Amino acid sequence: MRFVATELTDDERALQREVREFLDVELAHGYYEPGLGMASGASKALSRKLGERGWLGMALPREYGGGERSVVERFVVVEELLRRGAPLEHHWTADRQSGPVINRFGSEELKRRFLPLVCRGELTFSIGMSEPDAGSDLASVSCRAVKVDGGYELSGTKIWTSNAHLADYAIVLCRTSDAEDRHAGLSQLIVDLHSPGVTVNPIPFLDGTEDFNEVVFEGVVVPADLLLGAEGQGWAQNTSELSFERAGPERWISPYLVVEHFLREYGDDLGPEAARFLGDSVARWWAIRQVSLTVARMIDEGRSPSVESALGKDLGTQFEQEVMARIQTLVDVEPSLVSSSAFQRLLARAVLVAPSWTVRGGTNEILRSVIARGLR
Ligand SMILES: Cc1cc2nc3c(=O)[nH]c(=O)nc-3n(C[C@H](O)[C@H](O)[C@H](O)COP(=O)(O)OP(=O)(O)OC[C@H]3O[C@@H](n4cnc5c(N)ncnc54)[C@H](O)[C@@H]3O)c2cc1C
Repeated sequence: MRFVATELTDDERALQREVREFLDVELAHGYYEPGLGMASGASKALSRKLGERGWLGMALPREYGGGERSVVERFVVVEELLRRGAPLEHHWTADRQSGPVINRFGSEELKRRFLPLVCRGELTFSIGMSEPDAGSDLASVSCRAVKVDGGYELSGTKIWTSNAHLADYAIVLCRTSDAEDRHAGLSQLIVDLHSPGVTVNPIPFLDGTEDFNEVVFEGVVVPADLLLGAEGQGWAQNTSELSFERAGPERWISPYLVVEHFLREYGDDLGPEAARFLGDSVARWWAIRQVSLTVARMIDEGRSPSVESALGKDLGTQFEQEVMARIQTLVDVEPSLVSSSAFQRLLARAVLVAPSWTVRGGTNEILRSVIARGLR
């Protein structure tokens, strides 16, 4: 494993300025309630404006509405949006992984049907991987799709499905055969979540939001043309989908606004402990950002840095939790979600959601197995 330090080019910095100027107007400080990282609320209006600017589906082919731009350029845009706590949930999953995975494995018909809508910010996708008895050991999924006239009949339960209550579609990993090799019997279906037989049950999160869901499929008919890629190739496709969600800025930037608002409220009177915290945090933040940026550059060079991505996510999410633990020792407050102080509202939310940062997208223990195997 080798990380070659990289910097943003002049063009990438120009894009960064352009996004900052856009956000200064669209999300002026004090005029919206910022979110934390990708759990930030949804705004169809903002998603559509980002689409109009060409900042969604950035790396997708032009013929489907994409920008044919680089992974680093998407990094630049996403970093700025997350840094502001912009409401991104309407398009987040579609832009980050559903669009790219449809582009990689989908038929021409699926690409023409879905990708232009993804690029315009008009579709919400969910990730249908985890089940009550299949999380880290994803190959044990038991959702089953049986072949029927014209397609499949899908039954089973998915869980922890972020934003399924808002989503138009979910890409569902399911079992289509009882092949002896349990990986070989898996396929991916694009499921319309408004189909008869789909029930979305909200699961309240610690911070009171209900973005989490259980999704129950009872004999849901999925047309054959919504099979993504080839039947039986679901495991390989799913693994490639996971690589889109591992080492982006969303894996280390979640507490950024908590620190920014800490400085807004306490910055004039920092003691030595707070100064040390800031020094340490900025140094580590910069190093982890460098890892994440390098991974993006490697993908642009046509490499597959899966081990480097796992390392970036492990380092980034640990860093996020450590920042939150330390900042709580610096202030003598009982943070509340309804406080009049923006810092305390953000702190309260972060304290409640921080445990999930090292779980979502694959736990750190699992990532460390990936890293260990990759170093052999
Ligand atoms: C905020 C959030 C959003 C999520 N959104 C989605 C979503 O949209 N769609 C979706 O499909 N899923 C989603 N998930 C689910 C997430 O992917 C799973 O929670 C995660 O993969 C872990 O699976 P599990 O919860 O079943 O835990 P388990 O797999 O049961 O793991 C429990 C514990 O055991 C440890 N463990 C398990 N196996 C091993 C092993 N082999 N070696 C060492 N330790 C091990 C794990 O690290 C963990 O600490 C989300 C989760 C969170 C927290």
